Amino acid sequence: MELACLKSCAVIGDEHDPLARRDFPAPHRPYRTAFQRDRDRIVQARAFRRLAGKTQVFTSRSSDHFRSRLTHTMEVAQIARNIATALGLNEDLAETLALVHDIGHPPFGHAGERALDKCLQRHGLRFDHNLHALRIVEHFELRYAAHRGLNLTLGVREGIIKHSRDYDAAKYPELAAYFLHQRPPLEAQIIDLADEIAYLTADLDDGIESGMLELPHVLEHIAVLRRCYRVVEAEHEGVAEKFLFHEALQLMMHALVDDLIQQTARLTQNAGIHTLAGVRQHPVRVAVFSAQTEAGRLQEKEYLYDFLYTNDELTREHDRAEEVVTRLFDYWVNDPSQLPSAHFAQVQTEGVARVVADYIAGMTDSFILAQFEERKL
Ligand code: MG
Repeated sequence: MELACLKSCAVIGDEHDPLARRDFPAPHRPYRTAFQRDRDRIVQARAFRRLAGKTQVFTSRSSDHFRSRLTHTMEVAQIARNIATALGLNEDLAETLALVHDIGHPPFGHAGERALDKCLQRHGLRFDHNLHALRIVEHFELRYAAHRGLNLTLGVREGIIKHSRDYDAAKYPELAAYFLHQRPPLEAQIIDLADEIAYLTADLDDGIESGMLELPHVLEHIAVLRRCYRVVEAEHEGVAEKFLFHEALQLMMHALVDDLIQQTARLTQNAGIHTLAGVRQHPVRVAVFSAQTEAGRLQEKEYLYDFLYTNDELTREHDRAEEVVTRLFDYWVNDPSQLPSAHFAQVQTEGVARVVADYIAGMTDSFILAQFEERKL
C-alpha cells in the first residue's frame, strides 16, 4: 500500500477552510497553522495541566510508573500523529484532537465519571465527558481579554464532540453547528482507535507492574499478545521475561497501528471515497480495524475488564471514589453558598446541579480528596 494514500480526504486547515474558522477574530500568526495554534492553546490550558493529577486506571500511590491521564494523552497523540502521517491526513489536526480527547474527564477515571453521571441523573441531567470538554474549551478556560474560552477552530470543536460517538441532531439542537448528520473527518475518526491502541497496551503494562496481572495468565488469555510474545521469544533466546514482555507489547502496538492504517486505507478506497465530503457523507465510519484484529481487541478488552478493572483492589478504590464524588456533590447541591464564589455566581443561570458537576469534573484526584477530608463528610 502506498503511504499517504488518503491525502485527498484530509482536512486542509488553511485560511480558506471553514474548519479552520474561529468564532472570534484572532491575530494572524505566520509561523503556525490554525490547528497547530489550537494544539498550543490546549497544551497551555489549565484543564490540560490538571490531567497530570487525574487517574487513568491506577492511582499513583503504589508506583510512580503508572500512566496518568496526561501521559496517556501523550501516548494517544503520538499514535494518532503516526497514523495520520502514514495515511496522508492532517497530522496537526489529529495530534490536537488527541491532546484534547480526555480533557473533559473527571477525577478518579471512569469511576468518577459514573458517579457524576448518576448524581446528575437524579436532577434529570447527564454527564458526558465529550460535552464537558466542549464546555471547558468554550467557557471555563479564561485566557483572552475579548472572550471566554480558547476560541478553537470549528474543526477541533467538532472533533472534540464527535471523535468517539455520534450525537442525535434531534436530541442535541445546541450542537447543530457540528454537522451531526455527517461522519467526522478521518482525523477525528482515528482518535478513538488510537485511544484504544494506547490503553490496550498501557493497561497490560501497568497491570503487570501493579502485580494485579500475571504474565502467564495474560498470555494464556490474550491471543494477540501471545502471538507477539512467541515471535520475540524466538528472536531473543535466553532473555529475561520482562524484556520479552515489553518487546511483545511494542510488537502488539505496531500490529494494531498497522492494521488500522491498512484497513482504513482499504475501506476508504474500496468505497470510492476520494474527498472529505465523501468521508462525511459515507453512511458509516471508515476508520476501523479489520475483523480479525477487532476480534482480538474485544478479547483483550474483555480480559482487562474481567481481571483488571473489576479486581477487588480496584473495585474498592472505585467504590471509594464514587462515595467521595457523590457525597461532595450532595454537599454542594444542598448548600451552594459553600462553593467558590465564581462557581456560585453561575448557579442562577446554569442550575445548581450542573454547576456542582462542572466544579467536581475539573478537580484532580488529590484536590477532591482534600475537599472531602476538609469537610469531614
Ligand atoms: Mg483516552
